[in-house]
Amino acid sequence: MFDSLQERLGTVFEGLKGRGALSEKDVDQALREVRLALLEADVALPVVKQFVADVRERAVGQEVTKSVTPGQQVVKIVHDRLTEMLGGEHAEIELTTEPPTPIMLVGLQGSGKTTSTAKLAKYFQDKQRKKVLMASLDVRRPAAQDQLRTLGAQIGVTVLENVQGEPPKAIAKRAKREATLQGYDIVLLDTAGRLAIDDELMNEIVEVRDAAEPAETLLVADSMTGQDAVTTAQKFHEGVGVTGIVLTRVDGDARGGAALSMRAVTGQPIKMMGTGEKVDALEPFHPERIANRILG
Ligand code: GDP
Repeated sequence: MFDSLQERLGTVFEGLKGRGALSEKDVDQALREVRLALLEADVALPVVKQFVADVRERAVGQEVTKSVTPGQQVVKIVHDRLTEMLGGEHAEIELTTEPPTPIMLVGLQGSGKTTSTAKLAKYFQDKQRKKVLMASLDVRRPAAQDQLRTLGAQIGVTVLENVQGEPPKAIAKRAKREATLQGYDIVLLDTAGRLAIDDELMNEIVEVRDAAEPAETLLVADSMTGQDAVTTAQKFHEGVGVTGIVLTRVDGDARGGAALSMRAVTGQPIKMMGTGEKVDALEPFHPERIANRILG
């Protein structure tokens, strides 16, 4: 993950580490490289600008030219800022004190939403010993319902039966009711996925949200789609108000720009990341570790 950014910054910092003292010109030279590296990593331009400006301000404020190890100083500032930009601390998925906790997953078709629903169910079941119920709200795509049912059977998690003609918001209410009656801890709502965001989809998800009152609205976004994923995140956040992001296909993300931009653009944390096709390929997202990996 993040190979090219890591390599790029690695080269820049090798140069910095080799110098005894840094002039302001050197800092700017380094930051030009950082800027290029981030742009090449597909980080959104306004985010890059903000990042570079922040780092420059901090570097100059710390009188880098007089520092004993100026290269390491700049590396630390870049590292800290990257960690902050990725969200700072790891953000947990919030569970309500009174079960069941409704969690709604939203995202474009193909983003990995249904797979992530099952991965999350398995995660809560295996790692936190929670009793999880899943429900498919994609009434127009029977294939999506079948997929969730198949995954549910695979991981041993119950999937709410779909009733012909029942609208999504009614399914969401029934899922919650069922979860309460049957003593489930968590109810995962896999909302409809479409190839593009339109008003109809957004209205439907808003209705589901109002009916389910989820503790978390998690946006599932494909890291491989770079800037498109960032635009999608922005639209979903404006439309329904997401509380966290599940970043998928991190196993295939060589550039990392989506991860860096997404938090900055939505202001919402990346909580989990998908690292493969298998149902157990889901990990908590740790900003500091990711920043370390980026810097190498
Ligand atoms: P949905 O249309 O958003 O529900 O997407 P799916 O859950 O059906 O996922 C689409 C494809 O992406 C499937 O083939 C998944 O196996 C695959 N997928 C989902 N998450 C990941 C991930 O983190 N890594 C990899 N490599 N593949 C993933």
